[in-house]
Amino acid sequence: MTTTTDRYIGRFAPSPTGPLHAGSLVAAMASYLDAKAHAGLWLVRLEDVDEARTADGAAEAILQTLRLLGMHWDGPVLVQSQRTALYADAMSRLAAQSFACGCSRREIADSQLGLSPDGSAIYPGTCRHGLAAGKTAKSWRLRVPQAGSVIHFRDRWQGHVQQDLGLEAGDFVLLRADGFWAYQLAVVVDDAAQGVTHVVRGADLLDSTPRQVYLQGLLGLPTPSYMHVPVVVNTLGEKLSKQTGALALDLHAPLSQLNHAAQFLGLQLAPTGSVGAFWDAAIKAWQNRWMR
Ligand code: GLU
Repeated sequence: MTTTTDRYIGRFAPSPTGPLHAGSLVAAMASYLDAKAHAGLWLVRLEDVDEARTADGAAEAILQTLRLLGMHWDGPVLVQSQRTALYADAMSRLAAQSFACGCSRREIADSQLGLSPDGSAIYPGTCRHGLAAGKTAKSWRLRVPQAGSVIHFRDRWQGHVQQDLGLEAGDFVLLRADGFWAYQLAVVVDDAAQGVTHVVRGADLLDSTPRQVYLQGLLGLPTPSYMHVPVVVNTLGEKLSKQTGALALDLHAPLSQLNHAAQFLGLQLAPTGSVGAFWDAAIKAWQNRWMR
C-alpha cells in the first residue's frame, strides 16, 4: 500500500484477547466514522504483541464481527506478532536512551513512588545508570527526562492534555521481562509504518499518549492527530473488557448494537432499516458534529 502525507489514514487496533464487545465497538465505530467522514482510509491492525494474552480464534472472530457490522477495512490486516523485527530495529535506535533493568515488579512497587496513570508502579530509577549489583537484566526501559519535562498535545475530544513524563509515567518498558515487546513501542512503530495520520481510540489510552509522543520524537516519526473517545463502563464503573466480564456482541441484532454505540458517542440518528443506511446516517451525523 502506498501512503501519502495528505490523505487521512485512520486505524482500529484491537488486541485479540477476546471477541468484540460493546466497549470495543465504540472505539471501532469512532475510528471508522472519523475515517469515512474524512473520505480517508481505515486500517485494521491486530495488536497481538502480548502473545500471552492472545486468545485462540479471537482475531478471526473480531474480523468477522467487523464484516457483519458492515465495517470494511482498507488494505491488508497488519499482525504485530509478525513484525517483531521492526520493533527490535526501533529499539536499537533507542540504545542511547534505554537501559537494562533487573528489578522485579515487587521491588518497583515497594519503592512506593505511586502509580502511573495506567496503573503500573512508577519506576524508581534503580537501574537507570547501570544494572544494580547482583541483578540480571530482565526488561529494557526507556530513560525519560526527570521531573519538569512536560509533553503537551491537543486531543480532539478531550482538549488540551499534558503529562510530566518523569513525575507521572517514569522510565517505561520497551521490552518486557517475558520477552514480549511493549505496547508503547509497537504502537508507535506501526502507526508510523502504516502512515496513520489520525488516531481515534478509547480514553483509557489517553495517559499512554504522552509516552507515545515522546517516543515519536526520539525516533524521528510524525505525531498523528489524536482523539480519545469516552469508554463504556459497567455498573461498577470498570471499563468493559474481557477481564471485567464483558459479553460478546449479539450479532443477531447488528443494528441494535450499532445504534447503542452511536448513541454512546452522542450521535442522534433517526431509525434506519439496514446496516448500510445506518452507516450513511452515522457518517453524516459525525460530520455535523466534528467537521463543521
Ligand atoms: N490494542 C489496544 C487495545 O485494544 C489499542 C491500542 C491503540 O488503539 O492504540 O486496547
